[in-house]
Amino acid sequence: MNGAVAESLRGLLGERFATSPSIIGLHSRDESRFAPREPDAVAFAHSTEEVAAILRICSEHGVPVVPFGAGSSLEGHVLPVQGGVSLDLTAMDAVLELNAEDLDCRVQAGVLRIALEKRLGQDGLFFAVDPGADATLGGMAATAASGTRTTRYGTMRENVLGLEAVLADGTVMRTGSRARKSSAGYDLTRLLLGSEGTLAVITELTLRIHGIPEEIAAARCVFDGLDGAVATVTEAVQLGIPMARCELLDPAAIRAVNAHDDLAEPEAYTLFLEFHGGPRSVAEQVESVKEIAAGHGGGEFHWTSTTDERNKLWRARHNAYFAIVATRPGTRAQTTDVCVPVSRLAESITASAEDAAGLPFPAAMVGHVADGNYHWICPVDTDSESEQAALAAFVDRMVTRAQAAGGTCTGEHGVGIGKRDALLAQAGPEAVATMRALKQALDPRGILNPGKVLPDA
Ligand SMILES: Cc1cc2nc3c(=O)[nH]c(=O)nc-3n(C[C@H](O)[C@H](O)[C@H](O)COP(=O)(O)OP(=O)(O)OC[C@H]3O[C@@H](n4cnc5c(N)ncnc54)[C@H](O)[C@@H]3O)c2cc1C
Repeated sequence: MNGAVAESLRGLLGERFATSPSIIGLHSRDESRFAPREPDAVAFAHSTEEVAAILRICSEHGVPVVPFGAGSSLEGHVLPVQGGVSLDLTAMDAVLELNAEDLDCRVQAGVLRIALEKRLGQDGLFFAVDPGADATLGGMAATAASGTRTTRYGTMRENVLGLEAVLADGTVMRTGSRARKSSAGYDLTRLLLGSEGTLAVITELTLRIHGIPEEIAAARCVFDGLDGAVATVTEAVQLGIPMARCELLDPAAIRAVNAHDDLAEPEAYTLFLEFHGGPRSVAEQVESVKEIAAGHGGGEFHWTSTTDERNKLWRARHNAYFAIVATRPGTRAQTTDVCVPVSRLAESITASAEDAAGLPFPAAMVGHVADGNYHWICPVDTDSESEQAALAAFVDRMVTRAQAAGGTCTGEHGVGIGKRDALLAQAGPEAVATMRALKQALDPRGILNPGKVLPDA
């Protein structure tokens, strides 16, 4: 970065324009398998006006800008592969407006999802999208994130009503409205959802929120094999039972949690379920799924609606990620996801489980299965080139199989660096050329998070 740009940004932000090694280090990595890459500097923005001013300066000089939320993404999204400025939005963390009557709220992009959950909980409300990490709402929008409640409440694509965003040249625009539906022109909100900081910097979000249900029940059921578990989920989905959560752990994941938490759960495919509604409707949903599970060889169906017992029942699911990481101390967990039509889920997971058995490191599967979405979590020695190569090849094969089954290379983590070629294979050259044209129109100098999403030309 040339001295004039650094001077202008320092003049704008003072000490919030940072070049200290510790701050640079924190912004040079995410949770992915990719090697760290350092930005030249980190800019901490406090307002939309500052974001616009930073972009004006960087755009004038062609300096790359990489928006940075919590840095919890998993495909190299925030790595500044061409240097430049890492634009940290975490200080923009205000809940600006809460409309309980209309079930919507407006927040700044740096609000963390757990902080939002706490704030909304005070009014008996919740925001439904719950990725496993404590991500920022801006990062969640930029990755089109989802989580365990997607099967009932949708992903970020269904839960963001509108945005305020700053274009590469510093222009501030608003998209969407507070209305539940709209036929007014191109849908710029959904264009920016999943754009991974390559089209604009999101500064505010208008979100759909929900009332906390009167009754919540949790359930757990163990299966001898994968097929019975998946058949249970498929039938429940087909019958329209509105499960609020439906998660599957494989035997390796349960084994990891047993060792980590000193539990003695059967090491088998296990479904973790949650039901929301009034007491009668929840009881009906539980009974229906219990019957379906029994018809597909499910073991004992444990369920409860008290908070403590619910947490105990779901403990293995809640602790799975850290338990899997702990199976191999000194390694980093590398996580990847694909998503397929539910009818292809069993064959898709079975093929990847057979593949995973030949890997030179442990691997465990955790899935948001009612959506057809599953993840493999692999504790990998990041210093070992052969392990890294085996992981990359395993992911490639899984992606190819998912695409052949009519699915997608990523259901929720996004493309980042890691899945750019997979995007081309999936979307095809015509669609990717259209994406390039959109990028060119919104960011003609290519300063916004370069090297991400779109494959090299
Ligand atoms: C343990 C663990 C569990 C996870 N579980 C899930 C899960 O269940 N579901 C799921 O979807 N993901 C999951 N993730 C991945 C990750 O949490 C999500 O991708 C999350 O949405 C990223 O948000 P963030 O604030 O960390 O964004 P960052 O990692 O900081 O950024 C992600 C991308 O968004 C861009 N970006 C960030 N903020 C903005 C902004 N304001 N404007 C424009 N672009 C921006 C960045 O440039 C980058 O390209 C998990 C990750 C971990 C480590």
